[in-house]
Amino acid sequence: MTAQAAAPVISNLDTVPVPIVIADATGAILSVNEAASRVIGVPLPGEKLEQRFLLDAVDQLRAFEPGSGHHVVGATVVADGRPRPVRLDVNASGDGVIVAFRFIDEEIRRAGRLRSVEGTLRQLAASVPVGILSSEQGMRADFVNERCCNVFGTHAEELLGFGWLDFLDRADVEAAEIGLAQVIEELREVRLALRLHRPDGSVRHVELCAAPVADNGRDVGFVASIQDVTSAHETNQLLEQQAHSDPLTGLPNRSVLAEVTAEVAARCESALLFVDLDNFKFVNDSLGHGSGDVLLCVIADRLRSCTRGEDTVVRFGGDEFVVVIGDELGSDAVRAIADRILSEVAEPVQLGDIETRITASVGIVSVPAAVTTEQVDELLRDADIAMYESKRLGKNRMTFFDGRMRDGLQERLELDAALRRALSAESDEISVSYQPIVDLPTSRVVGVEALLRWRHPERGPIPPDQFIPVAEETGLIGQLGRLVLRRALAAVASMREIPGREDLYVSVNMSANDLSAADLVEAVRQALLTESLPGSALRLELTESAAMADADQATRVLTELKDLGVAISIDDFGTGYSSLSYLQLLPVDMIKIDRSFVADLASSRVLVEAIAALARAWNMPVVAEGVETIDQADFLNTMGVEFAQGYLYSPAVPVDELRKLLS
Ligand code: C2E
Ligand code: CA
Ligand code: CA
Repeated sequence: MTAQAAAPVISNLDTVPVPIVIADATGAILSVNEAASRVIGVPLPGEKLEQRFLLDAVDQLRAFEPGSGHHVVGATVVADGRPRPVRLDVNASGDGVIVAFRFIDEEIRRAGRLRSVEGTLRQLAASVPVGILSSEQGMRADFVNERCCNVFGTHAEELLGFGWLDFLDRADVEAAEIGLAQVIEELREVRLALRLHRPDGSVRHVELCAAPVADNGRDVGFVASIQDVTSAHETNQLLEQQAHSDPLTGLPNRSVLAEVTAEVAARCESALLFVDLDNFKFVNDSLGHGSGDVLLCVIADRLRSCTRGEDTVVRFGGDEFVVVIGDELGSDAVRAIADRILSEVAEPVQLGDIETRITASVGIVSVPAAVTTEQVDELLRDADIAMYESKRLGKNRMTFFDGRMRDGLQERLELDAALRRALSAESDEISVSYQPIVDLPTSRVVGVEALLRWRHPERGPIPPDQFIPVAEETGLIGQLGRLVLRRALAAVASMREIPGREDLYVSVNMSANDLSAADLVEAVRQALLTESLPGSALRLELTESAAMADADQATRVLTELKDLGVAISIDDFGTGYSSLSYLQLLPVDMIKIDRSFVADLASSRVLVEAIAALARAWNMPVVAEGVETIDQADFLNTMGVEFAQGYLYSPAVPVDELRKLLS
């Protein structure tokens, strides 16, 4: 290599595809390699770097201290007759420098494109109606759009970095961290429901959907859309609330019971009260559903008012309510609450211009600590059983659940099923027997009492005292009552054909349920018509308690029956609790002294005498039931009791036997 000759091409660098130029400390080009010569041509001897390169960064190159390593500068090279951007890689080499250069037009173009893509994205991000928050790495936000700021109710500066996390509800921060960790580490998309606290104090519900963004798999960040879903959330909550509340009374409905009970049980032992209104169906049917609704609302309010804030009152359905006691109370305190409920419910209710009264039957079960939601159904069943026990014992009372009641219930369920079968099959399991009622002084039969008989195919005869209460509970009594009425009238019609028996009457027992049936009077009229009988061929017996269950209704119905000529007897007189003066207001024709008094005349003598005297004063004949001995008959006769019924004369007998007896 000589000074005169053109700067030599460094042939051993020729194989290197990168353009390389070697210069001395003054910048004079010493040599170029093949690749460089192709770009900048072959320099003349002594030609300086800056003459070949249009060095924008020539000063930087000058400042470059020979022997001090490696330096990168940008420059512009005129190549192929046009300036092209290059990146110069300047390496110290002895006194001089080795400059490798690389055209970077393509890189610059690409970066420009990227910049414009990012610009477009940002523009897009600004215009979409969704908040956007993105991070290049981890949870650190490096971009938020305006909508995102609106959602947070603050400025971008507050949100960038980790700032946005400060706005999250503290209870949600962990969920956000876990969720975004999944995005970043598992490269999954994640949807999070979060609450934000805005600087203005309001709380917003947002939905954040985050997807991972990876830069060549190295730094992973995410881009998330953020939407304010507060109003949707509120609507949802409203719907949810509606799904869990009873629209009529506004009380929570049964769907909350399992949860509420388990919640209380997690804290302490408590109790659950099952409250069922007595004879509600009657009010509903007779006064109309509108009044029934008003009544339910009044009762709901009263239940709320006689429980405490920590208790929950639920409308279980129809006329059934459940009260979950909210804390630990002894059985006396629970009893006191139930007492308050019973007396509050029993207060008069004004429905338009009608004042009515309703009572409730309450079943109470204690809720052991740590009951699971699954066990709540069982508790409800037990409370229901106890409530039924209250009904059975005469309603308007409370009963604490006792495991033995379950057996009783089982028995009643079986009886009910068997009774239904017996009734539907038109089998001869069910029949009616007749017990004569005699005129005491003469022993002449004046009437007969129709008494139900049931012969179970396996169990044999089942006494009416056992199956009638069950039929009353389940409503089957309606069907049974009509059956007795039809058969009894058919029987008495045929007995009246026997000479001398033209005035015979049949006495049919009625339940409180029969009395509240809307079509009782019509059914009686029809049955009489079918047998072409006058009303006087029929008497209806009802107990004091049945008559008093709804005295107004009873008065109405009994008056209509009397108009048909049907007479009314008060059965089991003396065992009820009603006031005699009230009874006097009822259109009653006859009193039947309960057989328990007759059985023990020695001690009930005064009472029987009093009843007989009272009946005389009211001008009502008296029948003594259960007369078994001549002595009893004589004694009753001297006390002025006119009629008698009992084994002394005859037990209840089938219709064929009765015919023989009367002929
Ligand atoms: P009840 O109306 O007081 O009927 C009189 C009961 O006394 C009958 O019992 C009868 O067999 C019984 N008895 C009659 N004479 C004597 C006697 O000298 N000594 C004793 N110890 N008992 C006597 P039964 O037939 O078992 O009926 C029991 C109850 O079942 C009836 O009491 C009545 O309340 C009810 N019942 C019977 N048939 C019907 C019916 O068709 N409808 C309704 N709703 N209830 C009925
Ligand atoms: Ca009777
Ligand atoms: Ca009786």
